Amino acid sequence: MATAAADARIPNGDSAVDQQPHKPRLTTSTDEINNTIIRPGSVKINVEGAFIVDPDTATPALSNGGRHSPTHHETSDIRLPNHTAVVSHIAIDIGGSLIKLVYFSREVDSTDAGGRLNFQNFETDRIDDCVEFMKHLRDTELMGNGSHPGELCVMATGGGAYKFYDKIREALGVDVLREEEMECLMIGLDFFITEIPREVFTYSDTDPMHFVPPREDIYPYLLVNIGSGVSMLKVTGPRSFQRVGGTSLGGGTLWGLLSLLTGARSFDDMLAQAEHGDNTNVDMLVGDIYGGDYGKIGLKSTTIASSFGKVFRMKREAEAEAEDLGPARRDPPAKDGLQHHHSSSSGSQYIPSDAPFTGPDISRSLLYAISNNIGQIAYLQSQIHNLSNIYFGGSFIRGHRQTMNTLSYAIKFWSKGEKQAYFLRHEGYLGSVGAFLKRQPRNWGRRGSLENMQEMRRAAVRAQAQAQASS
Ligand code: ADP
Repeated sequence: MATAAADARIPNGDSAVDQQPHKPRLTTSTDEINNTIIRPGSVKINVEGAFIVDPDTATPALSNGGRHSPTHHETSDIRLPNHTAVVSHIAIDIGGSLIKLVYFSREVDSTDAGGRLNFQNFETDRIDDCVEFMKHLRDTELMGNGSHPGELCVMATGGGAYKFYDKIREALGVDVLREEEMECLMIGLDFFITEIPREVFTYSDTDPMHFVPPREDIYPYLLVNIGSGVSMLKVTGPRSFQRVGGTSLGGGTLWGLLSLLTGARSFDDMLAQAEHGDNTNVDMLVGDIYGGDYGKIGLKSTTIASSFGKVFRMKREAEAEAEDLGPARRDPPAKDGLQHHHSSSSGSQYIPSDAPFTGPDISRSLLYAISNNIGQIAYLQSQIHNLSNIYFGGSFIRGHRQTMNTLSYAIKFWSKGEKQAYFLRHEGYLGSVGAFLKRQPRNWGRRGSLENMQEMRRAAVRAQAQAQASS
């Protein structure tokens, strides 16, 4: 990744624009320039030469007084080498499971101009930690950006933007601007697809991370956002979209059920378990029913016929065996009257210790079940709406290869290779990046945006001179 990031970088300065022959320099009318200059409270972001930073060289951790916060910050930053204007806002997307926060910071230990976008998440239950973190940003980071005290503004989206609106405003003493969630998702995705190199990729077993270069001609597409629940948006143009469907069987379902069924303590733990589990220990396969392939309708013996379909029988068999072995092997009755078990291998009280399947088997099976289901619904939606590009976002994916492989395979299989699934490195941050970009006036977050006031004024003077000369 290090060389890739370095390769993608375009040096500072106007030459960066000139290096892209397919994108001619925009001419800007005097009206446009004046409008941009005088627009109050607006700051533009210059994404010229933006690239994803190699994690090894990520921003040094913020000093937050040694306070331990259960945050995750392993998503790579995005370096914006040409952005020099002050940024005095941060953006948060407060969902049912996670808060996703995006903020801009200057380079701490570098003489380079520009700065970077930082990505951080918190469990929504930890809203207080998130508020503390935002206070820290208000008091330290944003000042380093050249912002003045009291200038901070929080762009907020997701359901929590409403639920926690008063709490955030009161705790920070700042303006909180709320933005529509679906629109933010789409704006964020458009930004990643069109502007950030090595962000969007396709996935297959043989070519796991095949990057697609940024491109302009992106509509129409289907966005499948897999968060706690799943939303599917048909996007036909900038800010033109319709929510065409969704399902409540999403990331929250996996998170919740696996916390009940396995001993996993965190989402990452669940994914790690799924890595080495064997779903065929719990799933009923075509081969379990037919003893081989069901060739007549094209089903292989390894196709999952019923997720978790073998569990009931095997659990009953294990219990019967325990009965036969006498009272010493039986679990004591539980206070709630339910039949619980004390499992050593799975860490779950619901799995008999001698069951022929484990927590990891269950994790893998449920991950497949949910991903396959979403993949199939996504395909059907794309078919109904005649869309061949399908982008998968949301923190559920979390760069996990089994998840991406399942989704990608489902799209390829059902569409007979006619439709393409795409993934993103910042898949969980579409909404928060969209909210971040909404702070900007026209052209924000677009490669053609002008940032430098002097340059704009010079252009205005030139335009006026030309107009006078030709009259
Ligand atoms: P929402 O906006 O509904 O919170 P997200 O896009 O943030 O949705 O995705 C939330 C889902 O992501 C969770 O339900 C879970 O499946 C998954 N997830 C990824 N990372 C984590 C984590 N660190 N903690 C909890 N869930 C996580």
